[in-house]
Amino acid sequence: MQKILIANRGEIALRILRACRELDIRSVAVHSAADRELKHVRLADESVCIGPNSVTESYLNIPALIAAAEVTDSTAIHPGYGFLSESADFAERVEQSGFIFIGPPPGCIRTMGDKVSAIQAMKETGVPCVPGSGGPIPEDDPDEALRIAATIGYPIMIKAAAGGGGRGMRVVRSEAALLNAISLTRNEAQNAFGDSTVYMEKYLEKPRHIEFQVLADRHGNAIHLGERDCSMQRRHQKVVEEAPAPGITEAQRQEIGERCAEACRQMGYVGAGTFEFLYEKGEFYFIEMNTRIQVEHPVTEMVTGCDLVAEQIRVAAGEPLSWRQDEIRIQGHAVECRINAEDPKTLMPCPGTIDHFHAPGGPGVRLDSHVYTGYTVPPYYDSMIGKLITHGANRESALARMRTALSEIVIGGIRTNVSLQQDIIADAAFRTGGTDIHYLEKKLALD
Ligand code: ADP
Repeated sequence: MQKILIANRGEIALRILRACRELDIRSVAVHSAADRELKHVRLADESVCIGPNSVTESYLNIPALIAAAEVTDSTAIHPGYGFLSESADFAERVEQSGFIFIGPPPGCIRTMGDKVSAIQAMKETGVPCVPGSGGPIPEDDPDEALRIAATIGYPIMIKAAAGGGGRGMRVVRSEAALLNAISLTRNEAQNAFGDSTVYMEKYLEKPRHIEFQVLADRHGNAIHLGERDCSMQRRHQKVVEEAPAPGITEAQRQEIGERCAEACRQMGYVGAGTFEFLYEKGEFYFIEMNTRIQVEHPVTEMVTGCDLVAEQIRVAAGEPLSWRQDEIRIQGHAVECRINAEDPKTLMPCPGTIDHFHAPGGPGVRLDSHVYTGYTVPPYYDSMIGKLITHGANRESALARMRTALSEIVIGGIRTNVSLQQDIIADAAFRTGGTDIHYLEKKLALD
C-alpha cells in the first residue's frame, strides 16, 4: 500500500492520517472549500479541493473523489465513517476504477445496508435477533399484517428496511393503531430512502445498546474484540461509550462475539465491522451491522491494545489479521465522551472560531480531535469536534480520569457539551453502570 486517499474530514480524517504515517504510507487529503484549514489537510502529503461547502458537492461527490484518486495516483481510498462509508455503489466505483476500497466487499455492504436482508443473514448464522416479522410486511394484506403483529405481541416497532440514522421507525402499542402506523412509516421511508419496504419487530421497553467489534481478513479469518456499551444516547445519537459493557460476563462475551465472527466468515466479510445489539434481561438481540469503522472505536483500542484503523489498512492490502482470537485480552476499562460544538441547554449546533484551546493530558488520557486555537468550526457539517477517551485499570479509575480530563479541557470562543459530559460522568446511576437507552433523555427532561 503506497498512498491512501482519505475520503472524509474532521477527527476521523486525522485519525486515518496518523495511521498512514505510522505505517509509512503517503496520504492524500481531500476537502471542501470550507475545510482548507483542517488539521489533516495541513499535515497530509498532498491535498485536493474536491468542491464547494455543500456535502453533496464535496464529500458525497463520487466523480470528484475518483478523479482526486486518479490525479494523485493513490492506491486506496479510506472512507472513514458517515458520508460514503456505507455506500455499496461507491465501494464498487472505487474498485472498478482500479483502487482498493478500505472496507468490506460491496456485496456485504449491500446485504447489511438493507435491514431485512441483514436480519435474514444473521438468522442463518445463529446470531440472535429481535422477535419479528422476519421479512417485509406484505403491501396489500392488512389482515396478514394484523396477524403477524398479534403473533409478535404489542408493543411493536415498525421499521424501514432502508432506514438509518434513527429515522424510519415507529412504536405501536395497540392493534387499533397498527395499520395507520404502517402506512405512515411506508410513506416516510419512500420519501427519505426511496424504498417503502417496512418490517415489524418486538419493541423492547428498556434495553441497553451493546455492540461487538469484529475484524476479518481476505484469508477467511475473523475475530471479535469484545463489546462496547453505547446506551447513553440522545435522539438515537450516542453521547458516551465504554468498553467493556458493565455486567457482561466473559462467557457472554465469548458466546456472542464468536457468533459475530462466525457470521463474518460465512458472508466473506473483510475489514472492521460492528454488530449492534439491544440487550435486555440478560438477552442479546441483533438490530443492525455497521460495515465501517465507528466513532467509538477508540474504547476498544484502549482495552485491547489493537490499532483498528491500521488493521483495516493491513487487511485491505491483503495481509492476514495480526492477532488470533486467543491473543485478544480485555485489559481494564475505557470511556469515551463525544465533544460537540453545541449549546449545552438547547443542544443546537454552535459553530464558530475557537480562540483558545487546551488539551487535557496525563496517564490514560487520549484526545482524538482536529481542532486547535484559531480553528473555525464550519456550520456545514456534523457538530462533533473531538472525542475524549480515558483508560484505567478498572471502570472507577477510567471514570476518575475522565472527570479530571473534562475539568482540564479548555475550548474557548464556542459553546460545547463539556458541561453535559461532566454531569453524565458525575451521575449516580451512570456510575453504578448499566443504564438503559432512555436514561439520558429522561435525565435531561428532569433538569
Ligand atoms: P438506525 O439504523 O436508524 O440507527 P437501528 O435499527 O440501529 O436504526 O435502531 C436505532 C435505535 O432505535 C436503537 O439504538 C434503539 O434505541 C432503537 N430501537 C431499534 N429497534 C428497537 C426495538 N426493537 N425495540 C426498542 N428500541 C429499538
